[in-house]
Amino acid sequence: MKIIMLGAPGAGKGTQAKMIAEKYSIPHISTGDIFRANIKGGTELGMEAKKYMDQGQLVPDELTVKILLDRVAKDDCKNGYVLDGFPRTIPQAEVLDKALSELGDAVDYAIDVDVPDENIINRMGGRRACVTCGATYHMVHVPPKQEGICDKCGSELILRDDDKPETVKKRLDVYHAQTQPLIEYYTKKGILKSVDGTVDMMDVFAKITDILG
Ligand SMILES: [Zn+2]
Repeated sequence: MKIIMLGAPGAGKGTQAKMIAEKYSIPHISTGDIFRANIKGGTELGMEAKKYMDQGQLVPDELTVKILLDRVAKDDCKNGYVLDGFPRTIPQAEVLDKALSELGDAVDYAIDVDVPDENIINRMGGRRACVTCGATYHMVHVPPKQEGICDKCGSELILRDDDKPETVKKRLDVYHAQTQPLIEYYTKKGILKSVDGTVDMMDVFAKITDILG
């Protein structure tokens, strides 16, 4: 079972990817993690990627896919995997599909965790983080015992710049421009499955397991 997770930043696709990985005993593969592992392990691919990163450049799609294929060739991926954070663009999806098809392989499902922008902006706007220990809260879902004060260390809680509506809107604009076209791309391939991501995360997961069987 080879799965790609789609969805806007803040839609909760990472959480769903982890739950899928656990239930179906397949690895949860995020490109960030495999880059770090290759660089830390000093692999040839890792060193090549590092050259680009050190110069502040994007790692080319071909190289990212090479690193990804190297990861999914490992034994623990023989029953499948969940990709989280890749592909993010149509060219990346095309490079991935081409590389997989050369191996006689293909993605089985592209799962889109669908959440309207307004919901995401509201969700992120409710987050609070401790200025001292970094503990995170949510005003509605995980409130601190005392408003504005960290339960763990008593410091002040703030809304991080990353979670401010204007920052979140900018990320969503990038998502709509670059990543949302993938929804049409995978629809055409007949493997897109869209789930309503506005409901409770366990209900989202139930929908996903209905699809995956
Ligand atoms: Zn704290």
